[in-house]
Amino acid sequence: MHVIVVGAGIIGVNSAWFLRERGFEVTVLDRRSGVAMETSFGNAGIVAPGYVTPWAAPGMPGKVLSTLFAAEAPVVFRPDANPALWRWLARWLRECDLARYRRNKSRMQRIAFYSRAQLAELRTRLGIEYERSPGYMQLLRTPREVMMAGPARAMLDEGNVPYRWLDGDEARAVEPALSAACPLAGALLLPEDESGNCRLFAQGLKEHAQAAGVVFRFDETVRALALERGRVNGVITAQGTLPADAVVIAAACDSVPLLRQAGIRLPLYPIKGYSATVTLTGGGAAPSRSVMDEAYKVAVTPMGSRLRIAGTAEIGGRELALRDSALRTLIKVACDWFPGAARYTEATWWTGARPMLPDGAPLIGRTGTPGLFINVGHGSTGWAMSCGSGRVLADIMADREVEIDLDGLTLERYPRRIRGR
Ligand SMILES: Cc1cc2nc3c(=O)[nH]c(=O)nc-3n(C[C@H](O)[C@H](O)[C@H](O)COP(=O)(O)OP(=O)(O)OC[C@H]3O[C@@H](n4cnc5c(N)ncnc54)[C@H](O)[C@@H]3O)c2cc1C
Repeated sequence: MHVIVVGAGIIGVNSAWFLRERGFEVTVLDRRSGVAMETSFGNAGIVAPGYVTPWAAPGMPGKVLSTLFAAEAPVVFRPDANPALWRWLARWLRECDLARYRRNKSRMQRIAFYSRAQLAELRTRLGIEYERSPGYMQLLRTPREVMMAGPARAMLDEGNVPYRWLDGDEARAVEPALSAACPLAGALLLPEDESGNCRLFAQGLKEHAQAAGVVFRFDETVRALALERGRVNGVITAQGTLPADAVVIAAACDSVPLLRQAGIRLPLYPIKGYSATVTLTGGGAAPSRSVMDEAYKVAVTPMGSRLRIAGTAEIGGRELALRDSALRTLIKVACDWFPGAARYTEATWWTGARPMLPDGAPLIGRTGTPGLFINVGHGSTGWAMSCGSGRVLADIMADREVEIDLDGLTLERYPRRIRGR
């Protein structure tokens, strides 16, 4: 059985790998010249299932409003007239209710924990090097932030997720590179989590997939699905129709127009973010694990001889231009915590769009259209969910038993007007 995967980001590459493992003939198509050239290119690299959480949370609308006009705001709202944005926001606001937040978070964590186990298995079996650092730490500057972290701690307890709660001094003892000049009221250490370079991993897995027989075709844009009598029989590119027994859409936000052809109207919206990659000086103290500054929602992640500094959520506006104030915030946060650790004035800048559904969890598996499958909507934690999502998709397509509960992780969670047939 021949399967076409549209999209060679971290989700498409993992889908292809696991599909090949299940015996499918696989062709991956991407409009770019290689794998992980879009959102999977320059992300923060964090794989922390215990920290995976929907952005639609109680108190979030107020928090967004209160920081909207701050000089270094973690969230920036750029309203435009696009009705898709306003529909997305209305749905997002509905999901900020406590019960929905807890439900959405548990769905996301289910796939993320499974994914971390799959990642570990692939790492051991294939020996892919991806600048991995074990552990992850959330930094809380003020007593108020410590207080606000209470519900998240309670959920870690409920889920039996191992963590350590540290006061400022303990946190500095665990991560001595943290600058003493920056206020630190407390920290949450997740010792079983990790970080790594998502793009490097995608490149490594692509090499293994190719060796196993997966065909990668780059610089080829999928213009449409080849639909015949309600069934997807392949895709249409500039080269003509490419037939297949099944098609998997893993094209992040650009999945939307392709799926619309099959009557599926996904509320998937790009939430822009930024990163800076800087070279370590070797002189100043650098972090040994990824840290997240909760106040600014900026992560600083060691990646080999470099640091990746990433964050900011920009809602509205689809163009991927760099914005100076967001870039300044990234460097400010890294300098606050690790002054002198890297050549901050020589940063390589990047911006990408998180493929975000209002309720947070991705959508994996069948659609109502025969021959059409999806692996989309991984939002701000797609790297952390990628191996598990690929494995789940392949097991569904191969009619094998899926190892996790799929409740809330498929298109079935949406009403008929969204999911089409
Ligand atoms: C600033 C920032 C920080 C982040 N930090 C983290 C983090 O720490 N941890 C984490 O887990 N996640 C993080 N993420 C999120 C993560 O990067 C994404 O969830 C993930 O990369 C999405 O992968 P994807 O494969 O779905 O999308 P992409 O990587 O964008 O891949 C989609 C692919 O589809 C291709 N494509 C689209 N349309 C077509 C078409 N018509 N024809 C052919 N090809 C097509 C594109 O070229 C692209 O290669 C972050 C994101 C941002 C922006």
